[in-house]
Amino acid sequence: MTPFIPFLHDNNCLHAEQVPVEQLAETFGTPLYVYSRQALISQYQRYQSAVSEQDMICYAVKANSNLAVLRTLADQGAGFDIVSGGELERVLAAGGDPARVVFSGVGKQPAEMQRALEVGIHCFNVESLRELEQLQAVAASLETVARVSLRVNPDVDARTHPYISTGLKANKFGVPVEDAETFYLQARDMAFIEPVGVDCHIGSQLTETEPLLEALDSLLVLVGRLRTQGIELVHVDMGGGLGVSYEEGEQPPDIEQYIAIVHDRLAAQGLHLILEPGRSIVADAGMFLTRVSLLKTGEEKNFAVVDGAMNDLLRPALYGAWQRVVPVTPRPGKPALWDIVGPICETGDFLAKDRELVLAEGDLLAVMQAGAYGFVMSSNYNTRPRAAEVMVDGDKAHLVRRRETLSELLAAEQELS
Ligand SMILES: *Cc1c(COP(=O)(O)O)cnc(C)c1O
Repeated sequence: MTPFIPFLHDNNCLHAEQVPVEQLAETFGTPLYVYSRQALISQYQRYQSAVSEQDMICYAVKANSNLAVLRTLADQGAGFDIVSGGELERVLAAGGDPARVVFSGVGKQPAEMQRALEVGIHCFNVESLRELEQLQAVAASLETVARVSLRVNPDVDARTHPYISTGLKANKFGVPVEDAETFYLQARDMAFIEPVGVDCHIGSQLTETEPLLEALDSLLVLVGRLRTQGIELVHVDMGGGLGVSYEEGEQPPDIEQYIAIVHDRLAAQGLHLILEPGRSIVADAGMFLTRVSLLKTGEEKNFAVVDGAMNDLLRPALYGAWQRVVPVTPRPGKPALWDIVGPICETGDFLAKDRELVLAEGDLLAVMQAGAYGFVMSSNYNTRPRAAEVMVDGDKAHLVRRRETLSELLAAEQELS
């Protein structure tokens, strides 16, 4: 399937699907997140159409948890990968099917486990023996059975940024593959636990699939060993992690090709597949729109100070991430080198560095591939209300989260009484 391209220039004006981005800025203000409904659907369908009926594509909610995003995917029949009770409530509010939810994370609270059992989620991705014992206790108190999968740490190097690499022994996630058998033997003997699968998630923004396939092999060896012990697992969950193209020339793995390989290896063993893609579904479907407040030129550096900042879009400050910056209405002229910076009192507050652009005050800039790990990582640092979010569908734009107000930011606080 060819991916749908949501943001294109037409007549020197950037469009989101059929809506001029200029118009979105005027109607909803900046800074603003803009999502394309069609891009979300088309990217989800690339996954869904490559797997079988019994397999599950569980969108990783943490990548972008806006209710309209979740609703769009739920309407397509998506499952969801959650990492907190809060994300579970979002999925339920958006009409997601709890029977298609998997619950990941190293520190699930008993109350979160209880709620997940009550609504009947598909599976808990358990990350330690202690967690398994805690889950057993909660399940016992409800007299219900918790289906579990063990998150195995296959000790492969995902060759991505260290902050988003999760499958090495030095990482806090999962159980070493050597200890997995003991885990399953204990799980089998617990009255309120049913082991149904095994999972891993070795990192994010992977640009090659070899580490994933290496991890898959090690999971399959484990599945085989468990079989000889009489433990029959039903599914293998490969987590998320496929990268997207932030930079020109950055070639992310082909989704269909990757799934075909994984699917074949699992089908040969009679196993079902679960995937938990986040970034690769939403990143390209979103952009972050910001306006140039003023230009500050100097001997060493030119700064374009914009109204968006690291509190709105953290990835550049957090990982030194590079995201494409595109003028909404490109100007003719000789480009200069600009750092695109926000108004926050931190030197790390930049969206982009050394970009060749022709800029004037008041210009609109679009930071691309901002649909994943954008708004969800935003904060109120410097008492800045968080940006609004808009979803475009054809020629219509829907406000899907209104801009926060200053009084909302102050409302939860009180002075000494
Ligand atoms: C973050 C995460 C994902 C999604 O990762 P992407 O790189 O966004 O696809 C999937 N599973 C788990 C357990 C995660 O923590």
